[in-house]
Amino acid sequence: MVTRADIGVIGGSGFYSLLDDAEEIELSTPYGPPSDVVTVGRIGSRSVAFIPRHGRDHRFPPHRIPYRANLWALRSLGVRQVLAPSAVGSLQAQYGPGAIVVPDQLVDRTSGRAQTYYDAGGAVHVSFADPYCPSGRAVAVSAAREGGWHTVDGGTLVVIEGPRFSTRAESQRFARNGWTIVGMTGFPEAVLARELALCYTSLSLVTDLDAGVEAGEGVTHDEVLEFFAQNVHRMRTLVADAVQALPEARICPCASALDGIKLPFELP
Ligand SMILES: [Zn+2]
Repeated sequence: MVTRADIGVIGGSGFYSLLDDAEEIELSTPYGPPSDVVTVGRIGSRSVAFIPRHGRDHRFPPHRIPYRANLWALRSLGVRQVLAPSAVGSLQAQYGPGAIVVPDQLVDRTSGRAQTYYDAGGAVHVSFADPYCPSGRAVAVSAAREGGWHTVDGGTLVVIEGPRFSTRAESQRFARNGWTIVGMTGFPEAVLARELALCYTSLSLVTDLDAGVEAGEGVTHDEVLEFFAQNVHRMRTLVADAVQALPEARICPCASALDGIKLPFELP
């Protein structure tokens, strides 16, 4: 039997232990190999494919992650719904470390990343006004609330190019714009999922206050890693709960994102 999965998780390496009956699959895609071998297994009754976003040994910095290969690989395994846990900085002092933000909007401040599958063969314009899956968002918000997290339903994730953090002036400007959190991996992941008609939901764990809202020296990489390590067990539980609560059938608009559009190739 060919190994298949319904739900994809792209996250940190701490998520391996989520999967029962795990099997590792080496995949190639027209966009090269994904970040690492894909692990397919079960969480409860759901079949799940997991990709460590930065690779198992964390070899890919945010701007070098093979985003196109990752989403393509998931879709080729049968995945139609993707959960994307990640660490973010907060732009709003009231959402401190430990808050879970389930954003409903995104601002792209990256540059030079491959952000489309449709480079040739005619223009393909997908709708991206609402970048996240409404069903997935509702599930993630309930799971986070039930798990006792300080849960923020909605908000804007601004994705910066990195790998450096923002300057204080940049961060203050983001905060003044009313944006909520800042990260480095949420784009182009979200748009590539949409281009493959996948559901995509971000579960953003605030690990620190960004430079524009905190009074100290600004974030360090060690602080982020330490905070994430302290919370990895709780995040695992949250992702497992959300996976099991995702609807079996998709009634959201994501599935029809490509309806009526002439595609230059067949989707996997
Ligand atoms: Zn959806």
